[in-house]
Amino acid sequence: MQTIKAAVCHEFGAPLVIEQVQLAPPGMGEVEVTLDAVAICHSDISYAEGAWGGHLPAVYGHEAAGVITSTGSGVQGFAVGDSVVVTLIRSCGTCPSCAGGRPVICETLYDTVSGPLKTADGKPLDQAMACGAFAEKVVVDQRQIVKIPEDMGKDAAALVSCGVITGVGAVVNAAQLRAGQDVVVIGAGGVGLNAIQGARIAGARRIVAVDMSPEKLAIAKEFGATHGVLATEEKPWKAAFKALGGRGADAVLITVGAIPAYEQAPRYLARGGKAVLIGMPHSGAKASYEPVVLAAVGQGLIGSKMGDVVIQRDIPWMVDLYQQGRLKLDELISGRWTLEQINEAIADTKTGSAKRNVIVFG
Ligand SMILES: [Zn+2]
Ligand SMILES: [Zn+2]
Repeated sequence: MQTIKAAVCHEFGAPLVIEQVQLAPPGMGEVEVTLDAVAICHSDISYAEGAWGGHLPAVYGHEAAGVITSTGSGVQGFAVGDSVVVTLIRSCGTCPSCAGGRPVICETLYDTVSGPLKTADGKPLDQAMACGAFAEKVVVDQRQIVKIPEDMGKDAAALVSCGVITGVGAVVNAAQLRAGQDVVVIGAGGVGLNAIQGARIAGARRIVAVDMSPEKLAIAKEFGATHGVLATEEKPWKAAFKALGGRGADAVLITVGAIPAYEQAPRYLARGGKAVLIGMPHSGAKASYEPVVLAAVGQGLIGSKMGDVVIQRDIPWMVDLYQQGRLKLDELISGRWTLEQINEAIADTKTGSAKRNVIVFG
């Protein structure tokens, strides 16, 4: 066991506490990554507020990048000194989902409460989302990490591990958008901007961003939206139809947690279109829709977790696109903070800013 500094949640809704915790050395198939950067995701905030329950105390944080500083037995293809991104996608590789090419919905359960973290006095501490990255170091399974170029900024790299793969992956893997198709993206926040740039990269004909905020619609255009529609308009899908030349979208991606967005999503669709559910409403929230309409015109509703990515396949091409100037990452960062400032960084994220706050370790 070694002692590291982490931001710990002891009570849902209360500020995180910076304290010393214990981290076990990497076991079989595991690596220790000393973090350079971890971004704050809305999922971290939802967990810390108790939206989805879970064990306390806990360490959240799951959009991270750093350098491998120790490897356990049986680690292949990684060595001390490698720069990596760390994701929450822990997969066994052999269950029906993994074997079927969908590791993001791995069916093996992992007990993160008896994972590598303990409190300073040796009590159970949840390694939330199998990462626990609001900390100086993490110990994770080798299947959760992907190597990145040494010269890539870790703050930009950290964003790839959640928000970017979720948005871009939802377009490419879940909606399976073809070049020339039309897209509507509801919500121009962290994930929405990535769905927008994913649609641009995939060759979408027209990309309509829908958001409550005119400022976010302006940013959406910088990421590739061709049109913006204010969600506060009455029947906003009518404005989207107009932008799309009177036809609906081939894919609508819902990147927010608000239930009206889920209920309205099918209204934006063309015949045969697909609505992809990406946002994470609170547990228990329900949406209603009219099944006969979906059946009559062949429309689909699909849930997509983490962009249905296969990280070893999808992260390297996203890194290449970033280095070629085709995927915006630096532009997604709104602020850099120290671990000690994490509660301020979280408060800033909660003000609804479109972009990401990143904790940078000194
Ligand atoms: Zn996330
Ligand atoms: Zn599995």
